[in-house]
Amino acid sequence: MNEYAARVSEALAARYAHEPEYLQSVQEWLAMISPALDGDPRYEKLDLLTRMVEPERMFTFLVPWVDDKGVAHTQHGYRVQFNSAIGPYKGGLRFHPSVNPSVVKFLGFEQTYKNALTGLPIGGAAGGADFDPRGKSSREVMRFCQSFMQALYRYIGSDTDVPAGDIGVGSREIGYLYGMYKRLTSRAESSALTGKGLTYGGSLIRQEAAGFGTVYFLARMLEHQGETLEGKRIAVSGFGNMAWGVCRKAAELGGKVVTLSGPDGYVYDPDGVTTQEKFDFMLAMRSAGHDKVEEYADRFGVEFYAGKKPWWVPVDIAIPCAKENEIGVEDAVLLIANGVKYYVEAANMPATSEAMKLLRLSPRILTAGAKASGSGGVAVSALEMVQNSLRYSWTRQEVDWRLRGIMSSIYDASAAAAEQYGLGYDLIAGNDIASFKKISEAMMAQGL
Ligand code: GLU
Repeated sequence: MNEYAARVSEALAARYAHEPEYLQSVQEWLAMISPALDGDPRYEKLDLLTRMVEPERMFTFLVPWVDDKGVAHTQHGYRVQFNSAIGPYKGGLRFHPSVNPSVVKFLGFEQTYKNALTGLPIGGAAGGADFDPRGKSSREVMRFCQSFMQALYRYIGSDTDVPAGDIGVGSREIGYLYGMYKRLTSRAESSALTGKGLTYGGSLIRQEAAGFGTVYFLARMLEHQGETLEGKRIAVSGFGNMAWGVCRKAAELGGKVVTLSGPDGYVYDPDGVTTQEKFDFMLAMRSAGHDKVEEYADRFGVEFYAGKKPWWVPVDIAIPCAKENEIGVEDAVLLIANGVKYYVEAANMPATSEAMKLLRLSPRILTAGAKASGSGGVAVSALEMVQNSLRYSWTRQEVDWRLRGIMSSIYDASAAAAEQYGLGYDLIAGNDIASFKKISEAMMAQGL
């Protein structure tokens, strides 16, 4: 690691020893960008790295709400406004019991660098609450969203900070959040939130975007190897929005997703999740809110493996779509042993540091990181903001075509930066360096 980067890393570790996800994402990044720091004294002179690895500001607030039985609860809400060098803060909201300051800071950090190469003017942010939407009625979810927005509204806005969805926050929640924002501000400020419904300023393809984007990125990697998706078997973890988009776009391009997973285990569908009926069932399963993938096995008569991860299945391509650190060392060993050739992240930081090291060391596996291959969702969020400011909506084809172009240019920028720094075909380091350079240039231009 570069010497200045190592010092920043140590200082951060001393200060935030109790925030493991945040430290992990920053420390991995510092190692990746080190080749770009060597021999350039500007960064240290301005102490730029310190300002890049910590959020510019961060809010925490209490979210009280009453359940259907009349019992009062209090959740903890967060918004981390990480970096605004290239545009208003932008990033998702996560409602999940695991949400804490470390998780939102890691998400905000990753989001900043994920957003940088989309070509659209957006900074990075993340937020959410330790609310568990599982088993909650729609009325409870609405009341929670309204209370959450009563605290959040003063910090956001189309030119300040633009939240969107993430785990536990989909179009239903965005609707409730937006409704309350409008009530509190008296403004029909559509680009204050993205992921909106199609009847009030949402963009076509936004729901599909995260998964579609990852498959477009993968398609460029395959092309580089002289291959296509035709006939390829894909293992996917998760069964939410990202997984759904991956299944659909992969099927369209001739590939076949053969696994899905949930907190309860994984399903193996040798015919692939390739039909409309299966796509629709995934959506129904998600909105039922049981968080159990076994329902897919019951419905389509395929095998369900309780308590296991999908990496047991031999495939050509692995696309983690679930959560941070879902892939540990034993999973990485399985992936390698099962002959995976492409490891392409859709979820943020799905592998532990040790697992990632193993995957990157394996000479047969090509890897792409979520800050590149996972940026389709936020790219279409930014396109939603463009459409809102034009007061116009593009067609499905127009949005999809733009998304494809954005993913392709992120791929090109990552490959070019890797090449320029003598790192070969290291798309992860290439992407980290290219986005670092863009944001650092913007920060330096704007002064201390
Ligand atoms: N959490 C989402 C992401 O992946 C959404 C961000 C957004 O659309 O602003 O990147």
